Amino acid sequence: MTRLIFLGPPGAGKGTQAKALADHWQIPHISTGDILRQALKEQTTLGVKAQSYMDKGELVPDQLVEEMVEERLKQPDTTSGWILDGFPRTVKQASFLEALLQKLDQAGERVVNLDVPDDIVVARLLERGRKDDTEEVIRRRLEVYRSETAPLIDYYSSKAQLLIVNGNQSLEEVTAELAKVIS
Ligand code: ADP
Repeated sequence: MTRLIFLGPPGAGKGTQAKALADHWQIPHISTGDILRQALKEQTTLGVKAQSYMDKGELVPDQLVEEMVEERLKQPDTTSGWILDGFPRTVKQASFLEALLQKLDQAGERVVNLDVPDDIVVARLLERGRKDDTEEVIRRRLEVYRSETAPLIDYYSSKAQLLIVNGNQSLEEVTAELAKVIS
């Protein structure tokens, strides 16, 4: 049973690696960023509410994302495991998730931190050129990452759930290192 949480700054390559591993293990890749972007595209109530935050590089309010993740983790395909990408992003989300996984009888998750230096991350995001990848928004996303999300590294480390992988290598090298630490 594989239940993995991917942590790391924006542009760390979480999405790419999480998707490859999820395909390999045939378990769902649950990316809150992807779900939110889809909601935005379809202009659902959630998408309309989330848009202004995403456009500015701010976090969408915890409650919205928490409800979204709860609904997703209740789907039947999650019984074989999952990879969470982009959630939790705050300590509050992390404690919500812990309680939710207990409730759903899905505990036993492990956390991978994809470690990449700031200058590399900025260069990668500028290259990627997604709609919310302008320099100003990228800078804000990194600030938010540092203040809201980076504390999760200590949070999970103190619970001995944390695996660290050097994300500043080629895609293949990162995949190989991930496979090694997870097995
Ligand atoms: P990145 O590729 O930069 O890591 P994501 O695709 O994971 O970004 O997320 C894009 C945007 O969606 C974030 O900047 C944020 O506004 C919103 N978002 C995604 N996940 C969360 C979350 N767990 N909590 C709050 N906002 C989120």
